[in-house]
Amino acid sequence: MSSMTLGINFTYIISAIMFIIGLKMLSSPATARRGNLLSAAGMLLAIVVCLMNAGLDYKWILVGMAIGTVIGLIAAYKVEMTSMPEMVALFNGFGGISSLLLAWSEYHQHPELSVFLAVVTFLSAFIGGVTFSGSMIAFGKLAEKIPSKAVVFTGQHIVNALILLVAVGSGIMFAMNSADNYTLFLVVVGVSLIFGVTSVIPIGGADMPVVISLLNSYSGIAACAAGFVVNNTLLIVAGALVGASGIILTKIMCKAMNRSLSNVLFSGFGAKPQAKGAAGPQGEIRPATAEDVYYILEAADTVAIVPGYGLAVAQAQHVVCELGELLEKNGTEVMYAIHPVAGRMPGHMNVLLAEANVPYDQLVEMDDINPKMETVDVCVVIGANDVVNPAAIDDESSPIYGMPIIETHRAKTVIVLKRSMNPGFAGIQNALFFNENTRMYFGDAKVAIQALVAEFKSGD
Ligand code: NDP
Repeated sequence: MSSMTLGINFTYIISAIMFIIGLKMLSSPATARRGNLLSAAGMLLAIVVCLMNAGLDYKWILVGMAIGTVIGLIAAYKVEMTSMPEMVALFNGFGGISSLLLAWSEYHQHPELSVFLAVVTFLSAFIGGVTFSGSMIAFGKLAEKIPSKAVVFTGQHIVNALILLVAVGSGIMFAMNSADNYTLFLVVVGVSLIFGVTSVIPIGGADMPVVISLLNSYSGIAACAAGFVVNNTLLIVAGALVGASGIILTKIMCKAMNRSLSNVLFSGFGAKPQAKGAAGPQGEIRPATAEDVYYILEAADTVAIVPGYGLAVAQAQHVVCELGELLEKNGTEVMYAIHPVAGRMPGHMNVLLAEANVPYDQLVEMDDINPKMETVDVCVVIGANDVVNPAAIDDESSPIYGMPIIETHRAKTVIVLKRSMNPGFAGIQNALFFNENTRMYFGDAKVAIQALVAEFKSGD
């Protein structure tokens, strides 16, 4: 091995270590930003070293990098926080198609592959293709460019199983003789694109964040296979890291919704129209004005703010943080109770609150706040619905039965801030809204919290 190759491999190990430490740092809000930077620096190092490989045509690489950088920068600056899952879906898709194209180009240049190389070429192309077309469907559903409902039909699982069988069969034949099987390779590419579509259309828009996390894992596995195709150690390691972390995240999300992965992938959840507003628990609601809420909060010793998807939609994080500071100034203990699947992507609420500089030590996880819920004077539920729905505990017929929730109904008083009585993501009404200790404070989260802040300031 030349000293140049040794140097490149050594730098790849440094990059891999930077990825791993960076990933670890992402697990805490306090270190997440630095973790992201460290991983990005690791990637930069890897790219620079990779470009030192002999025989590269820099002209095309620079053109590709320039176009990619411009598109990436514009997209990242323009994307709304609530559209982040769509952006991740696109990125996963691009990762998948890169692996497919890489495998294709390598095969095109060297069609006589060993069995091992033929297998990894097949895997890279097939999984890459599934990731690409599946991610495009997930993007379309989330962005509502195509109907987000689950598309289900009789015999769907059989059709999907047959497509998969064709793919595996083609893969085996390709592996046995790659040199004379260019057409078979094209069949694999075509089948992979079809399978991506047919395996994602039966999944409802609501479950797309889980699917995106799974596709993220696929894009990693495809990249890992592509790493073997081009014999690049770092691509193998980075792909394996993405593959493993994507599958871990998928598992965490399923657990937080109390659903199995097969239920998410195969049950067609959301295919049947869910009951809107009128169905489910009914009763008297107790509306409150900004002034009423101010008096309740002003007298409270402990307040737990429970953010949900509506907080993200309204972009109310900064004004909520200001309210928290005013409450603290008033001598109230303030906590932010975070549900793992509040919002529409994992860590959604952590990211929003971090953006508003809410102190990390005020964030409390669901499992830590629930045992002491009886001691909380007021829970202020802001734009959250499913994650505080007691039906998850006491209504076996509910679609969310068994999902862990933040048990706000056990607090002394609950204030629910939302615009109407409309249901949330799961499409079901919430008995919490009719409880005797619940006051409904209707309005857009940002406007309504601004009104509360104004009450506090004029009350000073
Ligand atoms: P929900 O979707 O249950 O409820 C959000 C509520 O916010 C709605 O009832 C809506 O009521 C209200 N709202 C919307 N816009 C505004 C606004 N501008 N101002 C005030 N309120 C507003 O959200 P949760 O966060 O409680 O729960 C998340 C759901 O998403 C769960 O069912 C979870 O399983 C699911 N999910 C989450 C994933 C994740 O990774 N986080 C992934 C996949 C699914 P109204 O229209 O009346 O204002």
